[in-house]
Amino acid sequence: MKLIVQKFGGTSVANAERIRNVARIITDTYRKGANVVAVVSAQGDTTDDLIAKAHEIDENPSKREMDMLLSTGEQISIALLAMAISKMGYPVISLTGRQAGFFTDSNHSRARIKRVDTERLEKELDQRKIVVVAGFQGMNRYDDITTLGRGGSDTSAVALAAELKADLCQIYTDVDGVYTADPRIVPSAQKLEEISFDEMLELASCGAQVLHNRSVEMAKKYNVNLEVLSSLEDKPGTKIKEVTRMEKLLIKGVAKDDDVVRISLIGLADHPGVAFKIFSLLAARKINVDIILQSVGRDGTKDISFTVPIDSYKAAVEVLTEERDQINNCTIDVDTDVTKISIVGSGMQSNPGVASRMFEALSEADINIEMISTSEIKISVLIRKKLGDKALNVVSEAFVK
Ligand code: ASP
Ligand code: MG
Repeated sequence: MKLIVQKFGGTSVANAERIRNVARIITDTYRKGANVVAVVSAQGDTTDDLIAKAHEIDENPSKREMDMLLSTGEQISIALLAMAISKMGYPVISLTGRQAGFFTDSNHSRARIKRVDTERLEKELDQRKIVVVAGFQGMNRYDDITTLGRGGSDTSAVALAAELKADLCQIYTDVDGVYTADPRIVPSAQKLEEISFDEMLELASCGAQVLHNRSVEMAKKYNVNLEVLSSLEDKPGTKIKEVTRMEKLLIKGVAKDDDVVRISLIGLADHPGVAFKIFSLLAARKINVDIILQSVGRDGTKDISFTVPIDSYKAAVEVLTEERDQINNCTIDVDTDVTKISIVGSGMQSNPGVASRMFEALSEADINIEMISTSEIKISVLIRKKLGDKALNVVSEAFVK
């Protein structure tokens, strides 16, 4: 029998009417003869509201208790959805992350899935039940509840699809697929019929919010048949797979990431081991560094600038300040008023002139580029934050016509 994993995000289950709508999608699939596992997120803004509640008590609450709190959001959704499906006359059972067998490491608030023991879940499927699973949560080896990081329900769904060798993993959301740019900012953005895992991974890591980047990583690793589609409109979405058909689009997407901060270290000693020292200090604190720029040495000193995610820049500044005597007592300059614009597409590997076309579009719009970085299938630039939406539009127009 066919097995389909369907994931529904927060907006798709935001209220009773939406929950009934989701129940209809699930039972339609079931009625056509497939087994269905549904993975759900917390309703609407529940997770944000719970975070706000916690902060009313403590600005810096324990991460274990935070996971305890946030996991309740998904637990509400699974119970309500199971009730809706049952009311429609179908056999159904809801399972928490733990009951569904999600075992993770102990990195509270950012846990990684170690394994999924699907024995119980498969027993329920064997009885032809629809199984509704709480996304985003698992359990560590001390029996404590963990969560997978914001947006983590996508990863729960893909992990289950991989473990159960599902025929298809459908991510239902409030947009009808993956677009070349955020259509709320770029009205002329186009929906993609398909995109490769690598391209989707770059886009997800560059600020495109459709999919949690770890879910794409996992889908690629286990070759999960993945599809993004709308729960509100019945039309085909975007397929994400290993190789895609040749398309006329040179790039698949333009993404904006507002959650970056530039840190510059000015007046570093110009001798071997300096970059090593800096980036090993950051790595030891598990701080991800993105664009890196080093100036040419002059008069025995040099500068290094790099970007970090906004939620780790304070930790970065803290460790660099603590160790300033080890890095020539350099000046530490922080700029939070920046944004990163990236273009992604495997087509750029074989087509010269992609970078220049991007830079031309920015220059014509009078947007100054402050940093640049490239990979095989991606070009990113750092610009002033207030120019972000404009940049997204002009770069998009240069490629997507
Ligand atoms: N409810 C969690 C969040 O808002 C997980 C998810 O929606 O995927 O981040
Ligand atoms: Mg999401």
